[in-house]
Amino acid sequence: MAYPALRKKGEKLAPLSERLARLGLQKDWDYVLHLPLRYEDERKISPIAELQAGCTGQCQGQVIRCERVRRPSGEQLQATVSDGTATLSVRLLHFFPSQVKQLEVNKTVRLYGPVRDGFTGLEMVHPKIKPPVDQAQLPSTLTPVYPAGESITQNWLRKRISRALLDVEISDPMPADILVKLHLPGLADAIRYLHHPPVGASLAALSDRTAAAWQRLKFDELVAQQVALRHSRALKAQSQAKPIAPEREVLIERFFDRLPFALTDAQRRVFNEIRADLAKTTPMNRLLQGDVGSGKTIIAALAAVLAIDAGFQATLMAPTEILAEQHYEKIAQWLEPLGIKLAWLAGKQKTKERNANLEAIASGQAQLIIGTHALIQESVKFANLGLAIVDEQHRFGVAQRLALRQGSENSLPHLLMLSATPIPRTLAMSYLADLDVSVIDELPPGRKPIVTKLISLSRKRDVLGAVADQVNQGRQVYWVCPLIEESEKIDLTAATQTYEELKRSLPHLRIGLVHGALPADEKQVIMQAFQDGVLDVLVATTVIEVGVDVPNATLMVIEHAERFGLAQLHQLRGRVGRGAEKSFCILLYGELSETGRERLKVIRETTDGFEIARRDLEIRGPGEFLGARQSGVPMLRFANLELDAELVEQARNFAQEWLQTDPSAAALHAKRWFGHAEGFLEA
Ligand code: ADP
Ligand code: MG
Repeated sequence: MAYPALRKKGEKLAPLSERLARLGLQKDWDYVLHLPLRYEDERKISPIAELQAGCTGQCQGQVIRCERVRRPSGEQLQATVSDGTATLSVRLLHFFPSQVKQLEVNKTVRLYGPVRDGFTGLEMVHPKIKPPVDQAQLPSTLTPVYPAGESITQNWLRKRISRALLDVEISDPMPADILVKLHLPGLADAIRYLHHPPVGASLAALSDRTAAAWQRLKFDELVAQQVALRHSRALKAQSQAKPIAPEREVLIERFFDRLPFALTDAQRRVFNEIRADLAKTTPMNRLLQGDVGSGKTIIAALAAVLAIDAGFQATLMAPTEILAEQHYEKIAQWLEPLGIKLAWLAGKQKTKERNANLEAIASGQAQLIIGTHALIQESVKFANLGLAIVDEQHRFGVAQRLALRQGSENSLPHLLMLSATPIPRTLAMSYLADLDVSVIDELPPGRKPIVTKLISLSRKRDVLGAVADQVNQGRQVYWVCPLIEESEKIDLTAATQTYEELKRSLPHLRIGLVHGALPADEKQVIMQAFQDGVLDVLVATTVIEVGVDVPNATLMVIEHAERFGLAQLHQLRGRVGRGAEKSFCILLYGELSETGRERLKVIRETTDGFEIARRDLEIRGPGEFLGARQSGVPMLRFANLELDAELVEQARNFAQEWLQTDPSAAALHAKRWFGHAEGFLEA
């Protein structure tokens, strides 16, 4: 199929500086550290007759044929190129109008890419198509290929990086003895080698030769991270908090008296961990992790009651209005009978109501304040905030979490963060050393396991039957539509289409649609209708991912499940299986790659969030774990905490030593690597 231009006409491209900043490119030094993803060998043009299947090659010739061909999968562009020695087929499975132009008959083109055996002889699928050159114009070294962004060309990056390499003096901050001990090359050598492998280097032999250079950069990165971690831990140790240790836990006792169920052992344990932290004069900085449905909300409520028992205010911030309101309703049920005063703060409030609430917060009359981002606006002044709780904390940035933590000059409130996104222990240990972690590793009793099925999208009809079946039994159904690219607009079209299709096929069912582009109050109305059982089926984009609690929902259908992350699928599946009835999750898949199939199998085979996280880590590495960002310590670009475990250990030891022998060099090093990262020095 022919692709339209990626950006719509008239849609503005962000300014260059902004696009570069997204790649982490601001200062010269950032360019120096912007290292190639891989290399291309454009040093010679081979006669087509000498190209070999299985190798990457470059050739140059004339287009002698080019046509659009219809295939079941869409329209392809097929061309034949000849250089007099032989012919080569070129196939583009999807293409832009500009590429049709490049491959017009009689034009001479240079092609670079992997060569394979096609139906009609040798072919290149999606080669790089470039203007022809003379042999003399070819580069004498391997060509680096850099991570690039929107409308930033490789050529531009190469020039800019070469300039930075000339302008910046790459001094080596590390003492020579550690380099000798670990067999690491000098910093300048390593960096220059990676950007510009020497003339003789060949693509095949390169991986070994660059290994030492990469090792050096990873080491420097890890050392910088260790220094940053220690720095933020030291800052934390310096700050003060008012201890929360009520003489008599009157409210807590009454709370337990009225609770219709007993806490699980895991809940009891984590509450004790939190209680011990709260009694200290340093602010708690604790992450409460527990799988979906493990019962984190009640722990949050208990911590809040403890703070209130001790005469403080507490606050709970949730990422969406829907979720905040659910918390409010649930927690009010528990706490209002105890005589605790709750207040509610959200963006969509009437001014009068909002002002009244602000006053109650400032006077201390409101004891527990629940809300959204509205809680961190400047107009909100707490009388005596002792504890701040953040639900689904990965939805918030570091800055937002810190803002909630406003305190008086010399005392901070305690901070409790809740998350269902499991962070593997190894990662938590090395990365989040400034964050304490409590884990609820047990579900409340009586949960029925969820049956998960993988079904091809071509059998969507059968699934419609299952939907009708559940609804006939009085149950409710979620139908989640995929995120296509990162664009809300396309996303929305897909969801709307599915919604129309379901309405047509199941006309007797009451079906609702909720998506990210709806105004918050409309979203609210639809979610409420689903919660009240007025809707049978809720078609949604991933807006429902966060902790919605509708126990009567027993079927979760996820369309194009292969496009979701494992953690996300697990979260979504956790929306069902909350009531007494047996629940199901159907993963509808489109085209599956080998790893795609592996990933979906993981979801089918286990419902243990930690196991899923561990397998996910194996499949994609830890870089993307949300947890990595939450300590305020920047993520790693080069090193991999799992694969480079030995180097992590060496970096940790060296950082400790370095901070004692030469603290200013160590600090400078950390700043050079992470200086521009969000909240690094503050967090
Ligand atoms: P999550 O950890 O995903 O936020 P919730 O706090 O929403 O989970 O809890 C899920 C459900 O389990 C809620 O309906 C809650 O009231 C219930 N629940 C929590 N703890 C227990 C328990 N110990 N025994 C029985 N039910 C519980
Ligand atoms: Mg929750």
